[in-house]
Amino acid sequence: MHTIWLIRSHEYSAEKFWEVLELLKTFQGPLQFRTQEKHLEIPQDQLEEISISDIELKNQKLDALRVFESRDSSISLSLLEKTEVYHKVSWDTIFDQCQEYRTSQRISENDFIVLLTEHSNEYGWFTAGDPKGQRNLFVHTAFWEYYTGSDHRYPVAYHVVSAVLKRLTFTNYSDLNAYMHKEARGCMNDFCADKKKVSLKLRTADICPACMDLMDRRNVDRAVIRQVLSIIEGIRDQMLFKSRWKLDPKPLKLQVKGESKRIIFPELGNLEVKFNPLEKTLFLFYLNHPEGIKLVELNDFKPELKRIYAGLYNGSDPTLIEANIAFLSNPFSNSASEKLSRMKSKLIHALGKDLALFYYPKGENAEARKIEVEREWVEYCE
Ligand SMILES: [Zn+2]
Repeated sequence: MHTIWLIRSHEYSAEKFWEVLELLKTFQGPLQFRTQEKHLEIPQDQLEEISISDIELKNQKLDALRVFESRDSSISLSLLEKTEVYHKVSWDTIFDQCQEYRTSQRISENDFIVLLTEHSNEYGWFTAGDPKGQRNLFVHTAFWEYYTGSDHRYPVAYHVVSAVLKRLTFTNYSDLNAYMHKEARGCMNDFCADKKKVSLKLRTADICPACMDLMDRRNVDRAVIRQVLSIIEGIRDQMLFKSRWKLDPKPLKLQVKGESKRIIFPELGNLEVKFNPLEKTLFLFYLNHPEGIKLVELNDFKPELKRIYAGLYNGSDPTLIEANIAFLSNPFSNSASEKLSRMKSKLIHALGKDLALFYYPKGENAEARKIEVEREWVEYCE
């Protein structure tokens, strides 16, 4: 078991940060991703302005667009017109800040800290570990949107887990250097001096046999390797699916799995959308009612709601089942509409706006709410 504390430095948006964290948390295994919520502030006087001339930046962005053959000309234009000021910061500053954070937040020396920062760094690396040997890592979060298409989460999440796995495999930089692949082979240990090449890693989502061997010899926990592989494969599946989906938008299969009725999208690398028991109760209820139900009518369906909830309730006080369902279906409480909006935002986070539309109960206040997806796409399994 390893605890990985994700931290954002202040210039990295909290919203993006949470999206990355939520994505990582959907994969089970010995790596536990957590946050202290408190962000980290890199002192202003440690920031060095970098001047990327407009031309250079434009070329860089154009390259990115060519690589991904962006078909959306409005995106291309907005990329080219954007001018920002960029900063870089020394590795010493980054890792000193991480170490200070570790001390002030009382994070154990065995836990990992991964700082997500928009600032570039002195060597221009996308991710690196503390040369002093502490379990401090950083991932550079900027510019990825130009290189990997639409979704910032995938390259950032990929680098978080690959940085952790490298830290568990290699003892120091000369060790790492000895095994890093100078020629890209689509392995996690490819040395990518170029953000464009990273897309190869993301698409192959692989660890080559030589590296597997090495990790085995060095007794890297196999459960950790399995989890990292399932994360990078899951990321690849989601990426591929989303880019194809844009050309051919159609719903995808939703599985309701096992006793705890996990909500899973197998075509997205078994992505699980996590609802709490009451949210899940409403979700399953609406799946049962393709005709749509008004919120004020929930009261008429109390027995059905109660039956679903009883199967999901994991608390110790069974009288709460009755009480919670009474509150949920009470037309004068806004319990149900609160849960619906939370379900909607969880689905949008997991699936993106366009795809999520098929799966949350839609409808204006007084109208019937219904989940749009054709029920042939819904599969109940053990
Ligand atoms: Zn390799």
